[in-house]
Amino acid sequence: MRKTQRLWQALERVPGLTAVSAEWREHLGDEWDVAQSLLRPRQDLATSVPCPSVPKCECAHTVVTHAPNDIVAVCRCQPERCDRRQLERADIVVWEVDRRKLGAGVAAALGSGPEWQLADGLPMTWRIGTYVPSAGFRFPIYLTIQSEDHDFQRTVEGLVTRNDGPFILAAPTHDLLNSVGGAVLERGGVSFVALSELLALGKDGSPVAAESAAPLLDRLRAALVGEPATPEGAELPHCRVVTLKGTHTMDSDEYKELVARASEYDLFIDGISRNALRRYDGEAMAPEMLTPGEFAMIAEYIESRKIMRPTGTKVGTGKTADTARKLFDRGRRKVDISLQRYVWLYFRTHKATEPDATAFEFSPPEGTSWCLILPAQT
Ligand SMILES: [Zn+2]
Ligand SMILES: [Zn+2]
Repeated sequence: MRKTQRLWQALERVPGLTAVSAEWREHLGDEWDVAQSLLRPRQDLATSVPCPSVPKCECAHTVVTHAPNDIVAVCRCQPERCDRRQLERADIVVWEVDRRKLGAGVAAALGSGPEWQLADGLPMTWRIGTYVPSAGFRFPIYLTIQSEDHDFQRTVEGLVTRNDGPFILAAPTHDLLNSVGGAVLERGGVSFVALSELLALGKDGSPVAAESAAPLLDRLRAALVGEPATPEGAELPHCRVVTLKGTHTMDSDEYKELVARASEYDLFIDGISRNALRRYDGEAMAPEMLTPGEFAMIAEYIESRKIMRPTGTKVGTGKTADTARKLFDRGRRKVDISLQRYVWLYFRTHKATEPDATAFEFSPPEGTSWCLILPAQT
């Protein structure tokens, strides 16, 4: 693994991240060899090359191709100050930074898979990954490569406007960071990462997390999830979803998608809106709204799948048998379908000799599609 320094500075100094080898060498020095793995040749050839004289003349030398093996660089200064110089084809090959490879390396160093999306309206800025420091926390990772203070500043402000929560912003060096006020970074929840600190180049030249980046990664994690308060906009699990297949958590987007498909279920009980939807013989029945108590009662039967008296549930504990039973009955009326006296489709009645001892069980017929959504904190 090799730590590079000039490479990262070069990214902020070479316009368009595109130059002939002579210009890259000027910026990279002895890092040229190792940095080359991040560069790739373009189809088009250069029409000018940097002046090789020391000190330089005032122009970029124009490439004149007389024949494929007769290429010269001509000084355009008036009068001409440098000699014409013969060039090889390799001298006019244009090398550009493989941005996706760089982006994927940054994402991987932050534990993310590669993503690649131009940030809308922001030049040289890409969404390259998602930082997931622990389950339920997701932060976008952006990479921006700018040369000028005001461009960098505009990019940060643009990203803050586009994100309603914290995000990670990676840039080659810290050099442009001072152009942005600390207040903007704080208000926007921007965690800044310099590639010069984060990355090293592996044996094959691919960018990888530097060994020395461990403290940076710790700081990042602490800044984004370590504080006791939930960072604004961080995506905590929104709900737990219980179906025949088991229980899993969903974030708010997944929850919205699920609710949009509610009509696909025979029984759909949403503990966030406390709406209950039923379908019988293919017909949707009028939606019902459960009270918090009714929902708690019904949800416990569904989730536990136990045979319980209403007084045996959490919400029924401490209530008289009659009160608990009435709460259960009201909830059941809203979610179940009455087939005949004492016989309901989803909740089986286990009669006892004493009426107060009557127990119930959520026991939908085979083939019933049902879904219960519980708010995440329950
Ligand atoms: Zn010159
Ligand atoms: Zn010149």
